[in-house]
Amino acid sequence: MITPNRTPWQPDEWQKVLRDAFRQPHALLRYLDIPADAFNLDEQPDFPLLVPEPFAARMASGDPADPLLLQVLPNLQEREHVPGFVEDPLGEDNSVLGFQRAPALIQKYQGRVLMIATPGCAVNCRYCFRRHFPYQDHKPRAHDLAMDSIRSDTSISEVILSGGDPLLLGDQAFATLINEINAIEHVQRIRVHSRLPIVLPQRVTQSLVGALRSSRCPTVLVVHCNHAHELDAQTKRAFACLRDAGVHLLNQSVLLAGVNDETDLLCQLSQSLFEQGVLPYYLHMPDAVSGTAHFDVTEQRAVTLHEGMRERLPGYLLPRLVREIPGKASKTPLQTEGLQLVDIS
Ligand SMILES: *Cc1c(COP(=O)(O)O)cnc(C)c1O
Ligand code: SF4
Repeated sequence: MITPNRTPWQPDEWQKVLRDAFRQPHALLRYLDIPADAFNLDEQPDFPLLVPEPFAARMASGDPADPLLLQVLPNLQEREHVPGFVEDPLGEDNSVLGFQRAPALIQKYQGRVLMIATPGCAVNCRYCFRRHFPYQDHKPRAHDLAMDSIRSDTSISEVILSGGDPLLLGDQAFATLINEINAIEHVQRIRVHSRLPIVLPQRVTQSLVGALRSSRCPTVLVVHCNHAHELDAQTKRAFACLRDAGVHLLNQSVLLAGVNDETDLLCQLSQSLFEQGVLPYYLHMPDAVSGTAHFDVTEQRAVTLHEGMRERLPGYLLPRLVREIPGKASKTPLQTEGLQLVDIS
């Protein structure tokens, strides 16, 4: 077995990698040696292509069906209007439902608030709800009101930093945010939702690891990995550094047609995550966001895939298959029973 290097990266390396990220579909396809006419490329998407090189390096050259490539390449199919697919299916911007507690602070579930720490990401995933999210209305950087709101509500035991991607904050800004949260006595856990350790492992710097190591509150990092090919020696090193700092590592995936909607692939993903010290947490049904209908998987199929995983994996490697239904008190597990009854009748 290879022992992963446990040295965090130099502080300035990730910003350079991010600056050099692919922003033009043609440049990415040239790098992968795939002809552009293999796709119905969208040359002028509202939500542009963005892919850091370390993530592109894990794509198979010459393969237009590569599961990592399909997650990031703008396709004209996204422009099709499909009934039932809307800009804000979760009603996150709907103040009527009362989710927004302060600018950049959303609370849907008891005890946990979600702070939008940054508006951007290091990768643009085509299936993301964020493609239509009105960040300008949430003023991600002005978090004083959000902090006041957390401070004044002792029922909040967990702060979730999300985005966008909170690890796009610089080391200093991130450490300050962690310190401010730690200063609120009733907060017991800090959770970070980030795709950076996957798409840009160089983000795991000494200073980031230090901020997490010295946090009073135990820290949980939920990464976002959809396919075993997203994991390599660099992600392994990033996770080794984070684990050394006592960070609990979990993964959430999105079930995506053409990317990971096979039982074999999902089992491989769970096993590969475990090899890198990460436990599977959620397997999300894709949200019905306009422009993403071609990634949709039916509930029936999702439940079948998940049952297949259950038969083959130890319980601790089985992610919870959930859907987000606006107004519910938690993520909603997909039910097997109802579907089986339909089969019997
Ligand atoms: C998913 C989500 C959470 C976290 O839910 P858990 O089930 O605790 O992982 C918290 N807040 C919001 C707004 C969410 O969408
Ligand atoms: S990293 Fe997450 S939030 Fe950012 S585009 Fe991808 S799915 Fe959306």
